[in-house]
Amino acid sequence: MRSSILIIYTGGTIGMKTDAETGALVPFDFSGIYDEFPSLKRLNVDIEVLSLSPVIDSSNVSPDNWLELARLIRDNYARYDGFVVLHGTDTMSYTASALSFLLENLRKPVVFTGSQIPIGVLRTDGRENLITAIEIAGAQRDGRPVVPEVSLYFQNRLFRANRTTKRSAEALNAFRSYNYPPLAEVGVNISYNLTAIRQSDGFADGLGIATKLGNPPDALRNATKLGGQSDSLRIATKLGNGLALIKLFPGIEEAVLRAMLAAPGLRAVVLETFGAGNAPTSEWFIRLLEEAIARGIHIVNITQCDGGSVSMELYETGLRLQKIGVLCGYDLTTEAAVTKLMYLLGKELPAESLREAMRKSLRGEITV
Ligand code: ASP
Repeated sequence: MRSSILIIYTGGTIGMKTDAETGALVPFDFSGIYDEFPSLKRLNVDIEVLSLSPVIDSSNVSPDNWLELARLIRDNYARYDGFVVLHGTDTMSYTASALSFLLENLRKPVVFTGSQIPIGVLRTDGRENLITAIEIAGAQRDGRPVVPEVSLYFQNRLFRANRTTKRSAEALNAFRSYNYPPLAEVGVNISYNLTAIRQSDGFADGLGIATKLGNPPDALRNATKLGGQSDSLRIATKLGNGLALIKLFPGIEEAVLRAMLAAPGLRAVVLETFGAGNAPTSEWFIRLLEEAIARGIHIVNITQCDGGSVSMELYETGLRLQKIGVLCGYDLTTEAAVTKLMYLLGKELPAESLREAMRKSLRGEITV
């Protein structure tokens, strides 16, 4: 069966080509995609292209762009079998993680990709990334999409998007997923790791059915409860603000940390700690965190290490944090921790519900 794919171009290196006259890099017009890559016609897919206006370098991406992308996917959801989002690599893991939360009850592929070398340069990695991402977005088995989640394809590997992180400004295999296996490996064939691919688990995707946003209609709730499938995609329309990301280092000073935690409007902190979630046990350090938590600020403990998970019971230095109410971020990436908190803060949940949701895997972002 032929699939129809919508490519959403947001900007970044993948969209550049060399101007024949001036030799400068200029944006590539993706609407002429078939002229540029006639071989795409051989794929069993129909392609349409939409560009954000204006296109952006991904260093300028904002939560508003994420909400806009979510709306675009929702508005086009019924018309396409899958989506490919072309994005600058610098913040692709943030955007892709954010989308994994914003798109609730997703049952179609949304594949992010980009490139390290512009698509119009001879040695580009963009051509292969683009073509394979399209093929993955259109892949179906028994009439169902093979990868119905938000993923990121780069250099022969497909990853769960909210497990990825950009790890190299140079290498063509720029992305890694340290704590979750690839969803597919690409060689001569595309070999899907079917047991690793997530199938949506129903309405609101693990957030609990009753949120402040209201209950889903009964029919929908019953269909989900009975194991039936609802095809309706919902999107979150708000992301919360007031977030800080604090990376610990030996020698961090009391006055500096106090100033950070006293920032006006602060609602949540992603705290990057050492090893398995350890931090200094100095009285001033613990007191500052404790006071912040008492003021209603959520503090989530994630590790600075690339791989592995936070386990606060392991050492005295982690246990102190647990006792004062610091939340365990398990093996969340920084990108997923930041965007998950924005998503949950945007729902204006009661504090205990937010804490509970942070402990749960909503979109396969943590191993619990
Ligand atoms: N600065 C570019 C961006 O992230 C880099 C890239 O696309 O690889 O938009």
